[in-house]
Amino acid sequence: MFSLYASSKEIDFVLSVDWEGDSLSPENIQAMQNFREKHPEIKHVHFLNAAYFTADLSLSKKQIIERIQSVLRPGDEIGLHIHPWKHFVDAAGVVYRQGPRYLGEKYTHHFTKTPGGDVPLFAYSFDEIRKMIQYSKQILEQNGFGPITSFRAGGWMASAKVRAALAIEGIAFESSAVPAQLVAQLYPKTLLSHWAKKIWSNISLQTQPFQMITKESSIMQFPNNMGLADYVSFEYFFKLLEILNKDKKNSEPLYLHYGYHQESAAIYIHEVDKILSRLKNDFLVKPKGLLELNQRYQKKAQIKLCLSLF
Ligand SMILES: [Zn+2]
Repeated sequence: MFSLYASSKEIDFVLSVDWEGDSLSPENIQAMQNFREKHPEIKHVHFLNAAYFTADLSLSKKQIIERIQSVLRPGDEIGLHIHPWKHFVDAAGVVYRQGPRYLGEKYTHHFTKTPGGDVPLFAYSFDEIRKMIQYSKQILEQNGFGPITSFRAGGWMASAKVRAALAIEGIAFESSAVPAQLVAQLYPKTLLSHWAKKIWSNISLQTQPFQMITKESSIMQFPNNMGLADYVSFEYFFKLLEILNKDKKNSEPLYLHYGYHQESAAIYIHEVDKILSRLKNDFLVKPKGLLELNQRYQKKAQIKLCLSLF
């Protein structure tokens, strides 16, 4: 294949999966299994959702555990993903809030089964968010998924309050930061896009992992700079990469953090597959987890003071 780049250029490649807590359909699990066979060296950071254990999925606890485990591989990392679905919030012992909704009625097809999926975590109080984090960690770790080392908020909605709650609950790595332009592209004129701009105004394609300091907390941030396969296709990924590569000094590895959703793996994982095949052809791809990247980036990490109103 024709390569636009020097093949020795190194890429720190992070691949994360958002587990929405909505369904565990065999076709999506199968798509992930196939992908893992094809790219066995690519580690995954799984942002797992405890809501599978509180949802009515018509599956036994054993089946839920088996389906999730069937796509985990040695070297993967387990993080946490939270969408405050009603059944999950109730189970965590928190009083459910039905709004505000960041997608609203216009986008109901994304969250059809049960309400709460598009309520931002920051709609809850600091103590309530802590309770949901504690409950999630407890459920996941009890069922063999841990240790939980990192976090991504549903809809990337990790405001300062959410990050402070994470820090106090012992989660040191955060990965909700996203270039707001990517969110605006998929969900124009929504509260999701509006809030992504407010929370992540200083995040761009070029943003490397950094230490994120607020009045209340300090957390290591690993931006999801290349977005997720549902809205960053093969073609768009390489357009973004061209922009990113232009601005980088040749000696430095490129940090690329891309991902996909378990719930839509059967539809979109072929984009990840195509991207990886091309990247492996054009670059020296070094698959990395957040723990490994942290060792390098923490030493040279930029410290950014990120003040946010909520
Ligand atoms: Zn999600």
